[in-house]
Amino acid sequence: MFGSFIATVAVRWPASALGGRSWCDGCGRTLRALELIPILIWLVLRGRCSTCGARIGTLHPAIELIGAVIGMAAGVAATGSLAVAGAVFGWILLLAGAIDFVAFRLPNPVTMALAMLGLATGVAGLAPDLTDRAVGGVAGFGTLWLIAAGYRRLRGRMGLGGGDAKLLGAIGLWLGWRALPWVVVVACLMGLGWALLRRMRADDRLPLGTLLAVAAFGMWIALNLR
Ligand SMILES: [Zn+2]
Repeated sequence: MFGSFIATVAVRWPASALGGRSWCDGCGRTLRALELIPILIWLVLRGRCSTCGARIGTLHPAIELIGAVIGMAAGVAATGSLAVAGAVFGWILLLAGAIDFVAFRLPNPVTMALAMLGLATGVAGLAPDLTDRAVGGVAGFGTLWLIAAGYRRLRGRMGLGGGDAKLLGAIGLWLGWRALPWVVVVACLMGLGWALLRRMRADDRLPLGTLLAVAAFGMWIALNLR
């Protein structure tokens, strides 16, 4: 259900068409309660609106599925409040990563919420301790900000979005500074693999936020799995 909500926000964010009951983008009809069941209804309708036949697209059920996997993975890796915190971490990362994937944007309210909740879980006493988190927040934001500013000076164009630095800062506030090098290395390796597979050219763009989000949640699981 969280995945379904995240999918709706992520898909509609670029168009700023949020609010009200869910509707079909093809015919504008408001969806019935049964049609709001995540994933299953997409399978039953075979990805089409039952009224106008417009394709629903695979992005929506894919995000719902990832949302469910995140909840289950957090529940397997940890218990109690730590598991809840891990699921919330994963879901906000999913929202940030999905919006960056769809629109090449990392909205401030999303990265800010992630940062604030990272601090809050540290204050609540969950590991890593507050010092590790604070250093992680500053180091994560500072490193990518410096790289972005340096590249802009050197090449005279944007190489890295400002949202990426904020996202890595927020991730540092959750995982502590020790985890950040791994998050960046894993994200960049996935990015290189992606660029090679898609045969990208030097001026093509990759959503770094999506890669950082995937690496960060994988890191959270690795740190908490025992
Ligand atoms: Zn329709």
